[in-house]
Amino acid sequence: MLASSAWPARMALALLMVMLCTASVLLWRQLEREQQQRIDERIDYEARTLARQLENSLQQEVASLGRIARLWNTFDRLPRASWEEEVNRTLDGFPAYQSIQWRGPDLHMHWLLPLRGNESAVNYRLTPNNPNYALAMQARDTGEQRLSNSFELVQGGRGFVLYTPLYRTQDNQRVFDGFLQGVFRVKPLMDQLLTQIDQGNFTLELLEHDQPIYRHDPTGNVGTPSRQVMLSLLNNHNFSLHLSPTPALLAQLETPLPQLVLGSGVLISLLLVAALALAQQTGLRARAQQRANKLLGIEARRRQEIEQRLRENRERLQLVLDLTDSSHDGLFIFDTATRELLHMNQATYASLGYHAQQFAELLRDTPEKLMPGFHRWLEQAHQAQRDNLTRIFQRELIRRDGSRQPAEINTQLVNLHDREYLIAVSRDNSERLQLEEKLQRLSQLDGLTGLYNRRYFDQQLHALWRRQWRDAAPLALLMADIDYFKPYNDTLGHLAGDDALRRVGEALRGSLQREGDVACRYGGEEFVIILPGTDHMGAEQIAARLQSAITELQIAHPISPFERLTLSIGIAAAEPVDDDRPGALLERCDQALYSAKREGRNRTETWKGTAE
Ligand code: GH3
Ligand code: MG
Ligand code: MG
Repeated sequence: MLASSAWPARMALALLMVMLCTASVLLWRQLEREQQQRIDERIDYEARTLARQLENSLQQEVASLGRIARLWNTFDRLPRASWEEEVNRTLDGFPAYQSIQWRGPDLHMHWLLPLRGNESAVNYRLTPNNPNYALAMQARDTGEQRLSNSFELVQGGRGFVLYTPLYRTQDNQRVFDGFLQGVFRVKPLMDQLLTQIDQGNFTLELLEHDQPIYRHDPTGNVGTPSRQVMLSLLNNHNFSLHLSPTPALLAQLETPLPQLVLGSGVLISLLLVAALALAQQTGLRARAQQRANKLLGIEARRRQEIEQRLRENRERLQLVLDLTDSSHDGLFIFDTATRELLHMNQATYASLGYHAQQFAELLRDTPEKLMPGFHRWLEQAHQAQRDNLTRIFQRELIRRDGSRQPAEINTQLVNLHDREYLIAVSRDNSERLQLEEKLQRLSQLDGLTGLYNRRYFDQQLHALWRRQWRDAAPLALLMADIDYFKPYNDTLGHLAGDDALRRVGEALRGSLQREGDVACRYGGEEFVIILPGTDHMGAEQIAARLQSAITELQIAHPISPFERLTLSIGIAAAEPVDDDRPGALLERCDQALYSAKREGRNRTETWKGTAE
């Protein structure tokens, strides 16, 4: 992210660097050009100045020849001694002279100073063959000095000659009187002239018709650029100077400004770009830092929120756990695979008399000891959840003291992080079960007498009938009806009737001895007794016991012929068989009772239909 966003900026910096360097180079070249131009101009100027100085210097040095010539002309030829005196002074004044001569009008050399070294020139005659002849004639004809081109001197070496025409007056006429000749060797002349004016700025060559005849090189080094300047030596225009500036001059003229500009330009560019790069990098780093700080801030806020939520959840969970602890119902959550407890409230273990640790270990290691049929229950819980059936189970938990506690357990299976947990809420419902049982019993009893009621009788008759059939055992029925009870009620009142009914009921219950015998109030003042495993003889004994119990009661009956309350009893006994029904036995019993009534009441009749 940082690297990619830095690329365009880097490119821009590189471009800026190239531009700045290019600008520096362009500026450097411009300055170089200007400097070169300045140097050229300066060298031109210096070269021209040198040429003019050379010309002037020569002019001044040879002016004395003109002066001698004027003296000659004025005095009509100077005496030799005067001439020599003047010439010697001139020679002393300017050592560049090879010699000064007087060539007479016959063009022969007459006088010559100094003689030494110039002996060969004595008497030398200027003939038309001489390359300077024409020039000399020009000087004669014009009366002006003429400097020759360089030539091979008769004394040896190259030199010049300056022809100064001389005249004398004869018969009022100006007559040519030869030449005052100054002879110079090239090198001494030039050396001498340059000694006076040269400042060592140039290496120079004297060119004659563009051919070098003299070279002056004060340093031995030749610089560029060179210049060629026309040189008029006196009135000879065949010369030029070829000048090359010496390195010293060039060094003096050149300034390091362009290089300085280039160097400092590049350096400034580098520094600028480096500073910009640094600033850019700092900026990027600052932005990255800002972004990181922002992210950190977000992360910190997120963590704070999460921590806040966690705290709230923990508090909420604690609240829930506290609430579950205050609940009388047991709440426990365990891993169905390992049976490790995830949570349980206090009621779970305390209600059974365990410590928490004991309960957890029992559940984990020997769950059947905690709840008989534990594994079956777990399967049922799975099944119920699958089939979306009720998940409330009636189980029994084993208390620490070994007793059993009925528990209604509500289950919920939950999958969390690849594990399955069972949430169980168990409630001790023994009281409710007892209540239910009581209600159940009450629903089977007759409110007045406390005997079983008709509905219970019907159920029991069928149930016992089936059992007797299975056991191939006999079953007897005994049906009793109070005699003349309507008149009893009518005369003594309903309450007395109820009371009589209660007392008969008690007598009935008291006459039974065997467990399993069931006495029921069948209707208003009718009672029935089921006697399993009893034949008619056994039933008759019970009937007899009942009759004597009623007799003992001595409940006065003002309307009855017996003056007391009496019972008529019908008995039927049978061994249940496949094609038989309990209803048939009941009918027979009823018939037997009917017989007892018909026979005069206060008696027992046994149905003898099958027995006989
Ligand atoms: P029989 O000797 O033929 O049995 O004559 P009976 O009068 O006893 O028979 P009946 O069936 O005519 O009358 C039964 C009477 O029982 C009618 C009613 O007044 C009385 N009775 C029935 N149920 C109750 C009860 O719960 N309390 C009281 N006080 N009387 C009842
Ligand atoms: Mg009756
Ligand atoms: Mg009756």
